Amino acid sequence: MSKLMKHRSTCRICDQAQLVPVLSFGATPLANAFLSPKQLHEPELYFPLNVFLCERCGLVQLQDIVSPQLLFSDYLYASSTSPVFRAHFEVFAESVTTRFHLKSSSLVVDIGSNDGILLAPFQRLGIRVCGVDPAKTVATLARKHGIPTEIAFFSHTYAKKLRKKLGGADVITATNVFAHVDDIADIVKGVKHVLKPRGVFILEVPYLVDFLKQNIFDTVYHEHLSYFSVTALQYFFELQGLEVIDVEKVDTHGGSIRVYVTRGSAKYAAQPSVKEFVEKEEKLSLKSPKVYAAYERRIQHNKLALLQLLFDLKRAGKSIAGYGAPAKGNTLLNVFGIGPELLDYIVDDSPLKQGKFSPGKRIPVVNSAHLERCPPDYILIIAWNFASSIMKKNQAFHRAGGKFILPIPRPKVV
Ligand SMILES: [Zn+2]
Repeated sequence: MSKLMKHRSTCRICDQAQLVPVLSFGATPLANAFLSPKQLHEPELYFPLNVFLCERCGLVQLQDIVSPQLLFSDYLYASSTSPVFRAHFEVFAESVTTRFHLKSSSLVVDIGSNDGILLAPFQRLGIRVCGVDPAKTVATLARKHGIPTEIAFFSHTYAKKLRKKLGGADVITATNVFAHVDDIADIVKGVKHVLKPRGVFILEVPYLVDFLKQNIFDTVYHEHLSYFSVTALQYFFELQGLEVIDVEKVDTHGGSIRVYVTRGSAKYAAQPSVKEFVEKEEKLSLKSPKVYAAYERRIQHNKLALLQLLFDLKRAGKSIAGYGAPAKGNTLLNVFGIGPELLDYIVDDSPLKQGKFSPGKRIPVVNSAHLERCPPDYILIIAWNFASSIMKKNQAFHRAGGKFILPIPRPKVV
């Protein structure tokens, strides 16, 4: 087991040992370990899924760390399958280019570049780009689309090689990556090595406040090791000798923050946003275990409400299907106990997941043509962050009397 998982006993940011357990989800399989029909006859690996709070720096975190090789080397999620994300990164690339005066000689490095979804719009703007991603499947897709991509885990050691190969970077981005890494200090050492003196490191992470406010417990899975507040990030970057100069709210993944970080010596003026976020977080008492106890009660309440609704529908002879097979869906299904006895199938637009079965609950994943052929009475929107586009796409289903079920922030039928 030791090679598959390790347990750390101190805080990922400040290294103190007295962490408070705040959420316990027992053991679940890996959220992206979809099973082929052949694998249905094999046992699945389950790993503990428990969340802790550090009262000193405010970091909410997992302490059981599944081997990154196991999690990310065979990563199936190609970001560009989502038009919502494509649009999001196009706007992002344009705003960064204007704000930091990027030119054709500038270099943008993206850590965890996936299929090149963020770098493609930078490249279209004429800027030199390089992606780094350990997942061969998605990195190869990026290369096919003409985005130079290194297949590797970004680390301090790797950063030295990269710097030699490409020179210094004007902008380094890490969107939805930072929460996935145990040794974030090592990543930042690498970032400092590659970044030019006035370069900017921009990271995007799901925001702890939205996680709490919207009851997004399903984003807890083994890949997500940290649940960040601005307070915790600021504490962390100060330890690394860097400065947070701006924070923006973005609406991906149910609510994220984009954080701009530079060397103190780069002398960018810190925007008022940084102080505003920290003050708001203080008012919410994000370092108090009480906040998380109340959260846990809300999640339990939602679990009972959703299961009651699904059981009642099944007893009334209704059929139910799921829509969307994102990783977080498998936390929802496994932690709430929703299996094939309740959902006939799950529709997902990614060809990489179609024909497979959801980890743990083993619900078949099919394409949207299947939904048209065998429409259910109800659709549980598992990919709730895309609820509006899913409902729009399935207007005909709704007009014909079909209903949607939203699991979050409270179970609701529409
Ligand atoms: Zn800490």
